[in-house]
Amino acid sequence: MESLFAEHDFLDKSSGNNFADIILPVPIPRMFTYKIPKNLQPQIQIGLRVIVQFGKKKVLTGIIGKVHNKPPQAYEAKPILDILDHQPSVNPLQIRFWVWMAEYYFCHIGEVMFAALPSGLRLSSESKVQLNPNFDAETSKYPLDVREEKILEALEKKDELSYEDCEQILGVKTIHPILKSLVAKEAILIFERVQEKYTPKVETRVRLHPDIVASKSALETVFEAVQGKPKQESILLKFLRDVPVFQRPQLNEKGVDKATLLEEGDSESSLKTLIKNGVFEIFKHVVNRIEEEAAEREASELSLSQQAAFEEIKTHFETKQTVLLHGVTGSGKTEIYIKLIQEVLESGSQVLLLLPEIALTTQIVGRLKQVFGSQMGVYHSKYSDNERVEVWNGVLSGRFSFVVGVRSSIFLPFDSLGMVIVDEEHEPSFKQFDPAPRFHARDAAIMLAYFHQARTLLGSATPSFESYFNATQGKYGYAEITHRFGDASLPEYHLANISADRKKNLLKLDSTRLLREKIQNALENQQQVIIFQNRRGYSPYIQCEDCSWTGQCVQCDVSLTYHQFAEELRCHYCGYKEKIPQACPACGSSQLTTQGMGTERIEESLSLLFPEARLGRMDLDTTRNKYGYQRLLDEFAAGQIDILVGTQMITKGLDFGKVTVVGIWDGDRILNFPDFRAGERAYQQITQVAGRAGRRDIQGQVVIQSRNPDNDLFGKVIRGDYFEFFRQEMIDRKKYYYPPFVKLVKITTRHADAKTAQKAAHALHHQMANIAVKKIVLGPEKGIIARIKNQYQFESLIKLDKQGTTQAVFKQSLTKIIEELQAVPEFRSVRWIVDVDPS
Ligand code: ADP
Ligand code: ZN
Ligand code: ZN
Repeated sequence: MESLFAEHDFLDKSSGNNFADIILPVPIPRMFTYKIPKNLQPQIQIGLRVIVQFGKKKVLTGIIGKVHNKPPQAYEAKPILDILDHQPSVNPLQIRFWVWMAEYYFCHIGEVMFAALPSGLRLSSESKVQLNPNFDAETSKYPLDVREEKILEALEKKDELSYEDCEQILGVKTIHPILKSLVAKEAILIFERVQEKYTPKVETRVRLHPDIVASKSALETVFEAVQGKPKQESILLKFLRDVPVFQRPQLNEKGVDKATLLEEGDSESSLKTLIKNGVFEIFKHVVNRIEEEAAEREASELSLSQQAAFEEIKTHFETKQTVLLHGVTGSGKTEIYIKLIQEVLESGSQVLLLLPEIALTTQIVGRLKQVFGSQMGVYHSKYSDNERVEVWNGVLSGRFSFVVGVRSSIFLPFDSLGMVIVDEEHEPSFKQFDPAPRFHARDAAIMLAYFHQARTLLGSATPSFESYFNATQGKYGYAEITHRFGDASLPEYHLANISADRKKNLLKLDSTRLLREKIQNALENQQQVIIFQNRRGYSPYIQCEDCSWTGQCVQCDVSLTYHQFAEELRCHYCGYKEKIPQACPACGSSQLTTQGMGTERIEESLSLLFPEARLGRMDLDTTRNKYGYQRLLDEFAAGQIDILVGTQMITKGLDFGKVTVVGIWDGDRILNFPDFRAGERAYQQITQVAGRAGRRDIQGQVVIQSRNPDNDLFGKVIRGDYFEFFRQEMIDRKKYYYPPFVKLVKITTRHADAKTAQKAAHALHHQMANIAVKKIVLGPEKGIIARIKNQYQFESLIKLDKQGTTQAVFKQSLTKIIEELQAVPEFRSVRWIVDVDPS
């Protein structure tokens, strides 16, 4: 693929240019050229958001990617309608990163922009507006003009307005300058989808009038004034008790929540009088999602082995861009991160710490908040779009010099990253599968760091083979911690033979005697237990016990997923849904049961085996709700749950001191991963879940239940010899051409007609065979799911040689091949989806 930019383009700010290439958030192959009106020319800068017309009617926000003097050949350039920013929203490094991402992951730069820019920054004709809850017309620094007032008045009556509503209210055709101004004055918020609407938690708070805090005599005067007015006096005293402003005047600024102030029965009207008399003032405070309250705590002293690893990492960083920190579970990687982050922040650079989705709600974020306080931003995928805009703007303004976030936080507008840390770097969830850009956040982060001349630290107890390979090759630096922090030792493993127990009649409700004994022992000693069941990539579904009917999507060849709380069956691929039937639609039987997750069944078995134990279950079902996960963790931490049953999500970085027993309910399930990564994933999963046990003074016990306890893999995990395991797996990977020895590219061909899809896939296959690079092309085969959204799909897998220009040449040729195939009338509506590094 031809590069969209040359290096010097990023530096070109010369004015007097008549044209700008605009990146638009749409899946089109290239940027579009627009005319720069004379009056806007002095302001034009790369990275500014502009409003342009796209197509006949649509108005979109785009980003200036390039300015020049060449009119487009194929079309008449339309003018840029307006500029939205004073300062670029997107900096040149980001644009460079987007370009790299589009090229590497074989997608359009507009798709990257769409993923990167929160929709609150993408004003378009599809936008809706709402009042900014923090806006107060009376105290606002910015006066509003008549038309702006009109829009706000309309928003007082109606929660939200569409772009067109606004046009109608004012009777004008170009509404964006007015909306732009309202956004700038922080009076409104922009959103695109209803789910994104911002509903912050706003508290009404009370504080003393600043004049009173300023002098002691002023307060005395106030006390004199309230003498004989016991109701007012009581409020004043209560306030001073909660907020001792005369010991610490800075406390007044935060004040106290009004509801709290009045909770002991003080009267609201007395408070009102005090406010009227200028004793107190009222203000609104938006409560942050991530608790600000976290008590401040310093970084801990590093242990000797942590200190050694810390020094080693820093030494490697002198010569290497990337370092892998391989520290066993419980070795205290977080404390090492903290020390590194502090150093980078002190040097004035920014830091990004990437965590897997689910780990973000756990203890690690709380721990970091204690140390880094308000300079740390948190970027969560469950945040609404406007919350993301807040983080975005916080990075832009310099308020957040450190961000902890999920994979999409690599798109934040950092301008001087000093370090990127990827914790649990082996986690599959760092890969975005759908939609494009189908990027791997770890790999993209390394690239991002490279653009910033920053360092990348990858941390894991079970590194991905890619990273480990790079370390053994000397491409990455390598630091290791082989034992746990403090007195904690690594857990002891036990294999429990399911088949043998069954023969001896010792198996009860699928549990072996050994597992029952270990659990019993833990319960007797007031310790906690985690039981893990592998989800193996599928979701719960409903089945008829009589005729084995299961609900199928009408548009896709997949089972519908059972959603307990909504009482619905849903398709996870296309969103199709239906109510749960009362009786089997096929045979009329009422015996419909839930299948698939297994955790419910396990919970049931355990409740029969240990009737006094308090059970908790953590899986997709119980954590769908935004706070479900957190609530379960809190209960577990507080000791209100004795046995926690869960899927993958209980393996991620949890640190609970009282967990001494971990049971792997069905060890065999873990081994049957349908992929060349089976061994790697099994090793990682078992080690990670086992790592939750015995993290303090009592050694943990891990029981793996299996029908084939002799399987070699269990032995390897138990011995914990990661290097030996890696070495053996590498022999196979090399022999059969798998990563890290080759690059994989997966191409999916989709069409509504099965024959056309197949024909197109074969046509592509033949063309690819002619590309003159070293490679192996497998397929095309029917997709694992043969039909999605009424589209049939076929998959090809390409293994590319890793040397030299192979990848570049292949991608370039592939672009051409796909363009040519799409020109064939029969294939016009065929879709090709290219996934680079698919797993
Ligand atoms: P890892 O992420 O490597 O599995 P954690 O960072 O969760 O390990 O650390 C394990 C436990 O040890 C945590 O409870 C942590 O607070 C504690 N810990 C680690 N290092 C230190 C230290 N230097 N001082 C005090 N406590 C520590
Ligand atoms: Zn479907
Ligand atoms: Zn039936």
